[in-house]
Amino acid sequence: MTPKSAAAAAGATVHGYPRQGGNRELKKAIEGYWKGKVTADTLRTTAEELRRTNRRQLAEAGIAEVPTGDFSFYDHVLDTSVMVGAVPERHRAAVDTDALDGYFAMARGTQEVAPLEMTKWFDTNYHYLVPELGPDTVFAADSTKQVAELREALADGLTARPVLVGPVTYLLLAKPAPGVDPSFEPITLLDRLLPVYTEVLADLRAAGAEWVQLDEPALVQDRTPAELNAAGRALRDLGALTDRPKLLVASYFDRLGDALPVLAKSPVEGLAIDFTGPAAANLAELAAAGGVPDKRLVAGVIDGRNVWINDLTASLGVLATLLGLAGSVDVAPSCSLLHVPLDATAERDLDPQVSRWLAFARQKAEETVTLARALREGTDTVTARLRANAADLASRAGSALTHDPAVRERAAAVTDADARRSQPYAERAVAQRERLGLPLLPVTTIGSFPQTDELRVARADLRAKRIDATGYEERIAAEIREVVSFQEKAGVDVLVHGEAERNDMVQYFAEKLNGYLATRHGWVQSYGTRYVRPPILAGDISRPEPMTVPWTTYAQSLTDRPVKGMLTGPVTMLAWSFVRDDQPLGETARQVALALREEVLDLEKAGTAVIQVDEPALRETLPLRAADHAAYLGWATESFRLATAGVQPQTQIHTHMCYAEFGDVIAAIDDLDADVISLEAARSHMQVADELAAHGYPREVGPGVYDIHSPRVPDTAEVVALLKRGLGAIPAERLWVNPDCGLKTRGWPEVRAALENLVAAARGTREAL
Ligand code: GLN
Ligand code: ZN
Repeated sequence: MTPKSAAAAAGATVHGYPRQGGNRELKKAIEGYWKGKVTADTLRTTAEELRRTNRRQLAEAGIAEVPTGDFSFYDHVLDTSVMVGAVPERHRAAVDTDALDGYFAMARGTQEVAPLEMTKWFDTNYHYLVPELGPDTVFAADSTKQVAELREALADGLTARPVLVGPVTYLLLAKPAPGVDPSFEPITLLDRLLPVYTEVLADLRAAGAEWVQLDEPALVQDRTPAELNAAGRALRDLGALTDRPKLLVASYFDRLGDALPVLAKSPVEGLAIDFTGPAAANLAELAAAGGVPDKRLVAGVIDGRNVWINDLTASLGVLATLLGLAGSVDVAPSCSLLHVPLDATAERDLDPQVSRWLAFARQKAEETVTLARALREGTDTVTARLRANAADLASRAGSALTHDPAVRERAAAVTDADARRSQPYAERAVAQRERLGLPLLPVTTIGSFPQTDELRVARADLRAKRIDATGYEERIAAEIREVVSFQEKAGVDVLVHGEAERNDMVQYFAEKLNGYLATRHGWVQSYGTRYVRPPILAGDISRPEPMTVPWTTYAQSLTDRPVKGMLTGPVTMLAWSFVRDDQPLGETARQVALALREEVLDLEKAGTAVIQVDEPALRETLPLRAADHAAYLGWATESFRLATAGVQPQTQIHTHMCYAEFGDVIAAIDDLDADVISLEAARSHMQVADELAAHGYPREVGPGVYDIHSPRVPDTAEVVALLKRGLGAIPAERLWVNPDCGLKTRGWPEVRAALENLVAAARGTREAL
């Protein structure tokens, strides 16, 4: 095919669409079903209506081929487990009794059985349920859901393309089932899984699918030659089938690298490739490989994960190049639109100027259609649209929100020395010990205390104007008094104020910093029926006034023991927001760091001797490709140090991370140069302590001795045993005693009992030293 006919064919499509509906109707229906207030039939009807609305929205925007099967009651990887019959043994009875209840049992567990494990979908904040497989797994095809959703779309008279998680990605995301040898590699089940996909493909073809999409995002991660071989073999086998629809293999989130030639050589009819962000390199790599002249290319030129309008002219440039590299070219967002909110026009509270910079799912679909039309019919047919787009981009680039000269000046003036403490750790530690006078094995917590119903009511009352700011602050102050007095009585050594005033550790600061926007309806699925509304980091970041000093100093005024200041670090402030895409992340992180640095110094000036800067997102933000890790860790650790290094040697800097597996960032953790780090460790029996010791980590460490993910209260003997394990790796002079993470999701009775046990265990262990 010539490039010209490739252009003539150009259509618009998307890989997936938000599931929840404009008012999170899906969440309400599912949670209603769980409570017994919504029947299964009503739930199914609600879901069907939402799918129809979504398809209509896409079709009316001009999307020529709509996706099906992207809808889910909980998670599309769990749906895939159902499709291939990989139901864990412990859920079998529930699934056999009632498919829907069994499905939710796998997702959420029941009184009797644990759910599947949940983890992050690549480097997004969406969580999937991890398939559990073993050498005895027997797969069996169940294409019911896929076929039904395809039929719905076809009945509406639409061209529809079922989207499946591909077999290779499915296996690479799986883990050995409980009881199976942990060294078992699920990818070894490929030959057993392919016949199931063969059957599903045949069913979909029989139901009327011309094309089926196989999502293989696992191919953008670093893969071994054996894994790439497996992928090549899977596509060869599926390609060789006679009774099958045309296959479109999709990848997204990063560049394909060595997987690109595997896909290009495979006998599938189409490839969907991401050309945005770190995946922009796919363009040059595709050209270098000679393109895919025999294939349909679905070009992901619109970033499916951010909230910003596309540079349509720039995308047309990319598309023009791609026309020469493929048999035909369609336009699409880079990945499913699941990761962005539904509709930017719902944000009526935003400055209208600023809302023109935003594109959520609906707007991205519209951009996709515009680009396809320009490609097909010529840019003259969309001149007005391109002009408006250029004007919006110019307004963003020239706005005072995105370019604050004072912020820019400050960021440009940063020197290496600003990101270095004035004394090395060993010397500071002496000064801190003298100032704080803490006992060995000091007890502290991670920051938050239970977010009680009273606190939630207070926030709702404030929002509904039933109380004024003064009334609200009185309630917060009362809670802080309670938290401080409990800690004093219990014998905690370094106190916290409890974070009663914080709805969320990122949103709280986003609301106080210049440069962030808040949405009213910008919900995105985090997992199941849990949706989050990430703030939007839109502009240059500055701090108009102290954010935490008043509550911290109030708490300190109530006690003679040190109260720890509590801040969220720059990487986490970026990771849990939608971040501007018009400058490198490292630059944005630096601006946030400088704002936090002011806060840190103000806290210090107010007499705060211990300041904690949380970075739970440090590891999850790690780029997918190992080749990109060093650059990321470079700016990530620098921004942390920039936020914290301005303090006096005798001021103690803490940090906190919520996970126990961090082998690949251990050097970076050292590089943060924090005086004390607390980590999750209770479930892994203090293994982190051994790992840090093996690395030669020289600073103080608080491996968690209280698993806060469970309502269980650890008894004193159990904590003592964990502390003994910790002491085997970390000397008593450097070991802290603390829970795994914040206590905000726990209830007061458990927290009281658990912390009293922690103190008793610390004291007992101390005396026995
Ligand atoms: N300081 C926060 C808290 O205690 C930390 C939360 C987190 O690590 N996710 O809640
Ligand atoms: Zn944590």
